[in-house]
Amino acid sequence: MQLVGLLEKLKMVHLADQVDVVCEQASKRDLGYKEFLTEALATEWKGRHQKGMEVRLHSARFPQIKTLEQFDFTFQPSIDRKVIRELAGLSFVERTENVILLGPPGVGKTHLAISLAVKAVEAGYRVLFLTLEQLLIRLTRAKVENRLERILQQLVYPKVLVLDEMGYLPMNRQEASLFFRLLTRRYEKASLILTSNKSFVDWGEIFGDHILATAILDRLLHHAHVIQIRGESYRLRDARQSGLLAPKNDGAPVAV
Ligand code: ADP
Ligand code: MG
Repeated sequence: MQLVGLLEKLKMVHLADQVDVVCEQASKRDLGYKEFLTEALATEWKGRHQKGMEVRLHSARFPQIKTLEQFDFTFQPSIDRKVIRELAGLSFVERTENVILLGPPGVGKTHLAISLAVKAVEAGYRVLFLTLEQLLIRLTRAKVENRLERILQQLVYPKVLVLDEMGYLPMNRQEASLFFRLLTRRYEKASLILTSNKSFVDWGEIFGDHILATAILDRLLHHAHVIQIRGESYRLRDARQSGLLAPKNDGAPVAV
């Protein structure tokens, strides 16, 4: 049987793709049988790992890819880098703890949430990103179509679920109770990374019901790392630098 055909039958597609290069390299470097076999299998393994990561990254549905390396911590001194570095080690995912990022618009909540979730994808975890609005549309539609149970099961599956922009839109009673059901399902089974522009005291308003808000906070905060960001919007800084906005109150005359 031909080598490539054999590799394909064995589903070693990455090695099949690169087998000529691998053989050529092995002969150039005068590799022994064992070393050659190791190189060949490593080629297949790397290909599979890469492919798996691409599939997980795609199914995570990130709106953009953001990384911790792109994040300018000097711009946002209220964030403790050590805490973020520790979270990037992902022990919070192993312990099924939550991460909650709070702060006004533009301070990097979504950026940090995506960065941590990208780390989880790289480490082999299943991840899903949804805005709260997308989540509520999905849950409400599922309820109407009588397939809530199935959707809830699907949403428990990702080891990390990012829920972005909690608090921009208020929820009605049904939405709040659907959200609570999801939270209960995932509780102590999988991690949430949640961002919100509202502080916890204002969550009663989001859910339109203080008792439900308390029950939700109780589950969310039980095992949670809360990162409160106090600072200026990075978007506004960009606008200031390009002259679209007046400089920050530094005493200098304002050019209009
Ligand atoms: P938020 O979710 O808090 O409203 P974002 O995370 O969407 O803010 O940030 C707004 C934009 O500014 C994004 O493009 C983000 O990548 C960028 N950004 C925010 N903070 C920083 C930072 N400290 N360093 C680099 N880029 C940042
Ligand atoms: Mg955001």
